Amino acid sequence: MAQQGFDVVVVGAGIIGLSHALAAARRGLSVAVIDRDRQANGASIRNFGFVTVTGQRAGRTWRRALYSRDVWERVMPQTGIPLLHPDLAVIARRPQAMAVLEEFAAGEMGADCRLLSAAEIEARLPMAAPGSLGGLWSPHERRVEPRTAIPALAAWLERAHKVKFFRGTAVRGVESGVVDTTAGRIAGRHVVVCPGPDLVTLFPERHAAHKLRLCKLQMLRLAAPGWRLPAAVMGDLSLVRYEGYAAMPAAAALGEQLKTEAGDALAHGIHLIIVQSADGSLVVGDSHHYAATPDPFAPVEVERIILREARTLLALPESLPVTERWTGLYPSSPDETAFFEFAAPDVLLSQVSSGTGMSTGFALGEEGIAALLGEPDPLETTWS
Ligand SMILES: Cc1cc2nc3c(=O)[nH]c(=O)nc-3n(C[C@H](O)[C@H](O)[C@H](O)COP(=O)(O)OP(=O)(O)OC[C@H]3O[C@@H](n4cnc5c(N)ncnc54)[C@H](O)[C@@H]3O)c2cc1C
Repeated sequence: MAQQGFDVVVVGAGIIGLSHALAAARRGLSVAVIDRDRQANGASIRNFGFVTVTGQRAGRTWRRALYSRDVWERVMPQTGIPLLHPDLAVIARRPQAMAVLEEFAAGEMGADCRLLSAAEIEARLPMAAPGSLGGLWSPHERRVEPRTAIPALAAWLERAHKVKFFRGTAVRGVESGVVDTTAGRIAGRHVVVCPGPDLVTLFPERHAAHKLRLCKLQMLRLAAPGWRLPAAVMGDLSLVRYEGYAAMPAAAALGEQLKTEAGDALAHGIHLIIVQSADGSLVVGDSHHYAATPDPFAPVEVERIILREARTLLALPESLPVTERWTGLYPSSPDETAFFEFAAPDVLLSQVSSGTGMSTGFALGEEGIAALLGEPDPLETTWS
């Protein structure tokens, strides 16, 4: 017999589970969130906390990012999650990269972004390494500290929205109306399954149909360099990786140039994002290695290339120590950036199948709950 009953039971307390919990709770529904870990431990606390709009795949992914960014803006003051820095600076070091940025800036997704000359990059980012050709400044991005933001979001859902959390509780099976857990059965009129990289415990056949693999990323933290970044920083390598830029016609020539000049970085799926934490330390990454079961190792060689590329973007003090290293996993699809689908009546499987969950999760949560309740597409309206 089921132990307790809720309107909505969410499996997984990462950003995607929490986004669905928020979407359900703000409609006045009773919500439970179940997670096997005692505290947040997945991709949602291992990422950059970089809420990225500019560079997302055109179309629905980009719209999800804009929508989610607006939700972050509304939620941050209520949860006490601080904004660490706004904006994004893409620094171009090759003429081909500048050409990509010029094409991007001229399109719909370049709205409100500004192309910058080399002198303007130097003025706005005095810590930029010498030799930049210019860049792009986007006002759309936000940066939060994921390892405190995710617990703060969960605590606020519990406090302000009466969401009930079952931690240290693994879900063994899900059917319409009931979730079988290590702490007993929990009834839910609707169930949402957001298991992140666990593709085998729940609905493995559904995951298999999406041809998912896992992507392993290497990340590191550098000690405070003594200056403060005004924005997140990306460089040429990001322009062939982030789909919004990579779809520009000029990206092909940049890709060829990078093959000869930074082939080792491309081989490890390395592109550069550098963001800053409240204590001044820098979060730097990342690499991308794909496998059904990625190994747990973080090769020093990958880190060497990440740091080499970081130094082409920013004038980092010579002896700046690495203070932390970690890896993270997310499911990756060859086709879709995210999907949600009914795995059974009133049971929704919701997955971000690309590295964009912090940027698009709130929209996906709204879409998922709207689909369960038979409501129209929430992206046609604004979040309030
Ligand atoms: C290193 C790294 C950097 C990234 N950088 C960014 C970035 O800057 N911006 C961005 O937008 N995205 C970024 N991403 C992607 C983003 O972090 C993910 O898309 C997002 O966190 C996925 O959230 P999730 O809730 O699906 O997964 P997770 O955070 O992994 O959460 C899944 C949860 O489900 C629980 N769970 C699974 N199965 C069960 C079960 N059977 N029973 C109970 N609990 C279960 C797990 O314990 C876990 O807590 C990055 C990812 C990584 C790894």
